[in-house]
Amino acid sequence: MIDYDAIVIGGGPAGATAGYFLARAGWRVAIVERSEFPRRKVCGEFISATSWPILEAAGVHDIQGGPPVRRVGLFLGQAVVSAPMPRGGAGNGWGRALRRETLDARLLDAARESGAQVWQPWRAVSLRADETRQVCVIQARAGARELRAPVIIAAHGSWERGPLATQLARSQSPSDLLAFKARFLGAGLEPDLMPLLAFPGGYGGMVQGDGGRVGLSCCIRRDLLEAVRAGDPAASAGAAVLRHICATTRGVAEALEGAQLSESWLAAGPIRPGVRARYADGVFRVGNIAGESHPIVAEGISMAVQSGGMLADLLCAAPDRSLGRRRLDEVGRAYATAWRRQFAGRLRAAAVFACLAMQPRLAGTFSSAVERAPGLLTLGALLSGKTKPIGYVALGATDGRVAGAP
Ligand SMILES: Cc1cc2nc3c(=O)[nH]c(=O)nc-3n(C[C@H](O)[C@H](O)[C@H](O)COP(=O)(O)OP(=O)(O)OC[C@H]3O[C@@H](n4cnc5c(N)ncnc54)[C@H](O)[C@@H]3O)c2cc1C
Repeated sequence: MIDYDAIVIGGGPAGATAGYFLARAGWRVAIVERSEFPRRKVCGEFISATSWPILEAAGVHDIQGGPPVRRVGLFLGQAVVSAPMPRGGAGNGWGRALRRETLDARLLDAARESGAQVWQPWRAVSLRADETRQVCVIQARAGARELRAPVIIAAHGSWERGPLATQLARSQSPSDLLAFKARFLGAGLEPDLMPLLAFPGGYGGMVQGDGGRVGLSCCIRRDLLEAVRAGDPAASAGAAVLRHICATTRGVAEALEGAQLSESWLAAGPIRPGVRARYADGVFRVGNIAGESHPIVAEGISMAVQSGGMLADLLCAAPDRSLGRRRLDEVGRAYATAWRRQFAGRLRAAAVFACLAMQPRLAGTFSSAVERAPGLLTLGALLSGKTKPIGYVALGATDGRVAGAP
């Protein structure tokens, strides 16, 4: 049995950020990550300017990424519209794309360097309560180990099934959204533009990343995917989806004309948008497992790092680290409230945009409205949290002092 002050399950952006700030404040932290890094991830990889202070604090802001994104756009049917992206956050005020292979590895390294012990590749397989602490059993080829701590943080994302009570149950329905992502060389997308794509049965986005590569990520309903694949049985699922998007969405067909796929397609899902418990049964949740917005607004990484920092701040405010259940419950309530204030609005906005994009009748009205008033795209970016300042100061976690916690 190995004792820690906190065990974080999952070393993606949410878990690595929470682990980084706790370790930097002197906590004994274990982060359990089941995959070897660097690893690719289905994601559009755009990070809003508001999250930059957190990445800077962790020293991972210097990663080579895409150009600043100054315009938001809409590619829907024949419509190709753009409008200014609202400026927000620290630094130059613009978001940009960072490769997940690099971002996630660098964030986890930052946590390791600040003193967290990273168990990788180890998988958390069970959690049970001890008298005053909780025991997490982790497994790898080498065998199993038991880690123990008063604080457990679930940061394992929401797309993978598993035996933990914090993991979501399997589901299968025609309306499930399956996710795809690929990168292209030689695409004609303007470097400062991030268009939202809306096509029959799904939505997505495009953005330029490092080395001039353009990433396209999207979600498509399971029933539509089956229909699209039936019409193109020789093609891979990713290629069939792309053909469907290009056949229905002029902006994508034009931007990718003559472009070459630079890496194979990745697929994941079904994704599970929605607000979930942020704290239950003595376990905190950060990132996607606490709540997931439709990726149409490209805010998931920001919500992951911001929720990780927010929870670290609240935990560091506790007078001592061997938190009893009553104190854990208090912190859990404060965190759940702060989380709702910070993120609930953008989840609602994302759900409305996803509905507008995917319902054929609404999509027509949506695109005519945006063609008449492109400023609606700027408004949409504002509603999706692109400029919402972090309502707490994660950087306060350095000395265990919460600055500005709600
Ligand atoms: C199509 C698409 C496009 C997107 N585009 C964007 C975008 O442009 N911008 C944006 O901000 N967001 C985007 N997102 C959302 C973003 O990818 C997620 O919100 C983000 O990855 C959530 O981070 P996380 O740390 O909560 O979870 P994850 O990134 O999923 O990390 C969880 C980690 O936990 C590990 N893990 C899982 N189970 C266990 C276990 N039992 N034990 C140990 N480790 C475990 C996994 O290996 C993984 O590394 C997009 C999503 C999709 C589907």
